[in-house]
Amino acid sequence: MLRKCAGCGELKPKENLIKITKNYKDGNIVINPNSKIFGRSAYLCYNQSCIDNAFKKSKLNKFLKTSVSIDKTALEKMLGQKGI
Ligand SMILES: [Zn+2]
Repeated sequence: MLRKCAGCGELKPKENLIKITKNYKDGNIVINPNSKIFGRSAYLCYNQSCIDNAFKKSKLNKFLKTSVSIDKTALEKMLGQKGI
């Protein structure tokens, strides 16, 4: 299944993307949730430029329709865990 990266806009298999989900229950932002967490999700490539891009002008917040701050450092820690 293809998903669109919120950074570069490319379509990629979702296994190759970092998933960021807004928990529909409490509105918390979860990075790479297991399948038990449901909610509006955004996807990002495993690369720094896509993460940087998604944080510009609060793009990721707008995408997830949230004002909760998203932990950029935690996202960056995902880099290198799965390179493509
Ligand atoms: Zn990307």
